[in-house]
Amino acid sequence: MPELPEVEWYTRRLVQLVQGRTIVHVHLPDPEIVSGGRVSDLVGALRGKKILNIRRHGKAVVLHLGESCLLIHLRTSGKFVTEDPRLTEPKFLRIALMTDGESHLSLCDPRRLSRVHWIQSPDAATHPFIASLGPDPTSTEFSGHVLMSRCGRGRRIKEVLMDQKVLAGIGNIQAAEALYLARVDPRRRVGELASEDFQKILDAIRRSIAETLELEHGSTITYVQEDPGQSKFRVYGRAGKPCLECGSLLQTYKIAGRSTVSCPRCQS
Ligand SMILES: [Zn+2]
Repeated sequence: MPELPEVEWYTRRLVQLVQGRTIVHVHLPDPEIVSGGRVSDLVGALRGKKILNIRRHGKAVVLHLGESCLLIHLRTSGKFVTEDPRLTEPKFLRIALMTDGESHLSLCDPRRLSRVHWIQSPDAATHPFIASLGPDPTSTEFSGHVLMSRCGRGRRIKEVLMDQKVLAGIGNIQAAEALYLARVDPRRRVGELASEDFQKILDAIRRSIAETLELEHGSTITYVQEDPGQSKFRVYGRAGKPCLECGSLLQTYKIAGRSTVSCPRCQS
């Protein structure tokens, strides 16, 4: 499942590949991926449109096309691919935007859960999906104080960090990694934390995002669940293995139905 770093990486790639390009053809093998208007209208409306800029908010990517926007939400298994559909159609292709200059944006999704929302307005911020999201943790306007004010008091901190309405883009992996870096037990109730803990947690989220981004290279991304190799994370995927700091065995348990991993000593 993509989290903020993967979507950020994709967004940077898309900026390189298609920002400033003009859409010359829309290939739509799965029309159900589109919402917000009639598919036949969308295909016609997109042709000739220039992709003015591409922005990420949380796990969503927005293509600004002037009078309209496309909001792409990859959900659990969507990914952009680099294979050129004009040569061989990639497996599970749902939509491809061909642009001038022979570049393209191709979205594949084996589970068909991704969505492309056609927003017939120049401003995506008013779309209910974007409007429902909390601030992006990489935003300079976000702070530990803002995080504390959005967390409430009663829920466990890990569950809160994964709530997209509190902050956008953090999933199971980044929440577990950030809480380990911040030395906070994921089971702590928000109301039990000191005010300075929220800045520590936000700093740890930013550090974890930056470190995950540094690991990405090449032309495509392999999601964690597709890669049976050694975990590249400090705690995620390492339950029962020794903590990299203190050597204690990492423990696993569920919070809000999701498995989590933490160190019984470093995060006590
Ligand atoms: Zn430890």
